[in-house]
Amino acid sequence: MSANKVVDEITKDQQKEQESLNLFLSTQTVIQKALNKLGYTTEMYELLKEPIRLLTVRIPVRMDDGSVKIFTGYRSQHNDAVGPTKGGVRFHPEVDEEEVKALSIWMSLKCGITDLPYGGGKGGIICDPRKMSFRELERLSRGYVRAISQIVGPTKDIPAPDVYTNSQIMAWMMDEYSRLREFDSPGFITGKPIVLGGSQGRETATARGVTICIEEAVKKKGIELKGARVVIQGFGNAGSFLAKFMHDAGAKVVAVSDVNGAVYDPNGLDIDYLLDRRDSFGSFSQLFKNTITNKELLELDCDILVPAAISNQITAENAANIKASIVVEAANGPTSLEATTILTERGVLLVPDILASAGGVTVSYFEWVQNNQGYYWSEEEVNEKLAKVMVGSFENIYQTAETHQVDMRLAAYMVGIKKVAEASRFRGWV
Ligand code: NAD
Repeated sequence: MSANKVVDEITKDQQKEQESLNLFLSTQTVIQKALNKLGYTTEMYELLKEPIRLLTVRIPVRMDDGSVKIFTGYRSQHNDAVGPTKGGVRFHPEVDEEEVKALSIWMSLKCGITDLPYGGGKGGIICDPRKMSFRELERLSRGYVRAISQIVGPTKDIPAPDVYTNSQIMAWMMDEYSRLREFDSPGFITGKPIVLGGSQGRETATARGVTICIEEAVKKKGIELKGARVVIQGFGNAGSFLAKFMHDAGAKVVAVSDVNGAVYDPNGLDIDYLLDRRDSFGSFSQLFKNTITNKELLELDCDILVPAAISNQITAENAANIKASIVVEAANGPTSLEATTILTERGVLLVPDILASAGGVTVSYFEWVQNNQGYYWSEEEVNEKLAKVMVGSFENIYQTAETHQVDMRLAAYMVGIKKVAEASRFRGWV
């Protein structure tokens, strides 16, 4: 690697670390505001501003070429006053401690909003799964479970899929945990394949939850979903199913993107073609000659914009150029606090991530309940129960925002943190 390239890489790493730190600090800021609005003491803020537990692990993995590579992983548990902690495991080169900590806090908030009996957890491994073989990924997944096994379990902390992890990885992790404990433990992890105790409807749950938020948001804005122009950033698990649901609902999906770029057609894209041709990492743009950038995609003329890829996409720099009147955050942390204020002042209805993407954890909870009772539900039952939770959660947050005259993000934090704070108070922790 040339000296310039090394400097570039270091600068990129530092920039990402700074972004994660900002994400974490802005999460703390909103938690403090929410607790203040609710009248809690500063001791409660001191308890809830950081995870109660953060484990860093080093995982040696035998690579296919015979060498051994050491990977760094994390598991963060924000607060377990309500119940066991719950949250995904992310495999990504840019995973870092601050990001995992912030994500675990958001999981507490999501579980509070949807009234699930969990606290928040999150995990991650610094790795690039796109450059690893199937067997290397298996060894890494199993190694991670061995490394964190003491602090996780069906009644302690229940992992799930997140960015670049899938049902196969959940299956390896469940198998490793079951071997360690010497009994079958389907309730250890969610997002499993159906044959191993996965739930019907889990794969599409996040996108379904986002769809329900969009349906509720258009009603509030007096917009018809049929014919509405939708732009989606990201075409992975969340973005691709969402594109399909929007298309099925009669909306016009005019642009979607992957990590390399975006395709745009003001007359509406052929979603079935894109779904058919994308790869397992949600990439398709290599099929097209005329692409636009992700930055251009965000500023396209449309009614509904859904960031469904990564964090820090709508900032003070581009918030004034966003044309959508509804922004629904399927991704975690795509909009900065400054941008939230700019959008809200401009009358944009912003449905925050901790509400919009809560469908995934809700059906993960349903999966865990089914595993624990050993009795499984149909997809219709799952979808019906999910819709009830999402519609109720949306309305609760919308009303909280109206009553307290705050934006939807602060309202969501208020609803989410209240359950954790009350559970901590009743336990006598604060
Ligand atoms: P995924 O890995 O399946 O797909 C990610 C998509 O984003 C891919 O299309 C990828 O090409 C694209 N992408 C990656 N880097 C990008 C970049 N720099 N610019 C633009 N696009 C980029 O991930 P997913 O499961 O769909 O998750 C997407 C977002 O939704 C994440 O923020 C995740 O935390 C959040 N989320 C997902 C779930 C879930 O159940 N899948 C639940 C809650 C929240």
